[in-house]
Amino acid sequence: MMIVMKESATDEEIAAVAEKIERAGARAHRSQGARVTVIGAIGDVEQDANVESLGLEGQPGVDRVVPILKPYKLASAQFRHGERTVLEIDGRKVGGDHFALIAGPCTVESREQTLQTARAVRDGGATLLRGGAYKPRTSPYAFQGLGQEGLRLLAEAKAETGLPVVTELMDVRDIDVVLEVADVIQIGARNMQNYSLLTEVGRSGRPALLKRGLSAPLDELLMAAEYILKEGNSAVMLCERGVRGFENAYRRSTLDLMAVPILKELSHLPVIVDPSHAAGRRDLVLSLSLAAAAAGADGIIVEVHPAPDEALCDGPQSLPTDTFAEYAAAVERAAALAGKALSAA
Ligand code: PEP
Ligand code: MN
Repeated sequence: MMIVMKESATDEEIAAVAEKIERAGARAHRSQGARVTVIGAIGDVEQDANVESLGLEGQPGVDRVVPILKPYKLASAQFRHGERTVLEIDGRKVGGDHFALIAGPCTVESREQTLQTARAVRDGGATLLRGGAYKPRTSPYAFQGLGQEGLRLLAEAKAETGLPVVTELMDVRDIDVVLEVADVIQIGARNMQNYSLLTEVGRSGRPALLKRGLSAPLDELLMAAEYILKEGNSAVMLCERGVRGFENAYRRSTLDLMAVPILKELSHLPVIVDPSHAAGRRDLVLSLSLAAAAAGADGIIVEVHPAPDEALCDGPQSLPTDTFAEYAAAVERAAALAGKALSAA
């Protein structure tokens, strides 16, 4: 249920409505738009019925009461009645007219590799630096990331380049050390439905990049986002990174580009595309990136490495650092055609 307050509603009237909702057992989630305040009454079916029975329509300051039809209330486009969420990460905007180019190594492997990549993507105009210190690998025998040492290297790369850092949190036990470095916490595809992890990321208040699970329908992605939003953290980006299909000979997975306009119809949250993991091949990354920008994506997350053939993880899909500036310029042009400007500090 969404209670749209009148433009003239006073703080007291808004507080009174919120209090009634909470007394009915639901959560009152306030969002202040450009002109009006909207109070989302968020709860289960029974709590929704309780709020409905309050008869809020006609109360002082209330303009109208609108049911939210989707099960993901806070993530739904309806909740922000058409307004798009624009995140601000250390001065860089993501969403609306702002396009984010998130670039960096799949995995932090060494100081030199990390700093070299960070410098190259900064010089090429990247918005944020990506890099994994904790890596979800299919094989338990594969390199699992440098852990805390990797986080330290990301902090150094950030200090030198000024680029805010996106890094993955795999395990709730590591949240404190990750929060010391991460400007954006990445939730990997394999953890999209790790609800205790999502809840803790929600409580942390740190912006989150939530990747779509390998076989997750869009409604489940949005319900996962809802876990983060429900804790009062509204800084969530959704990420399409390819889903399982039947074609495995020529590509790693199937980039579901239709997810971009569909998610933007269903939700107010920014939508990011990861062409690297979708393709698994660097020669496909540029065309997928241009297509994503043309489809209205709010950003790209792409893997870059100074010597992809020697990478410990995801080398075949990583762009060499010396081609990044040209790649970034092409993506910027495609984003501009879709009405978005590349976001930098
Ligand atoms: C990654 O970004 O390096 C990664 C492991 O991504 P995903 O969770 O989408 O597989
Ligand atoms: Mn990777």
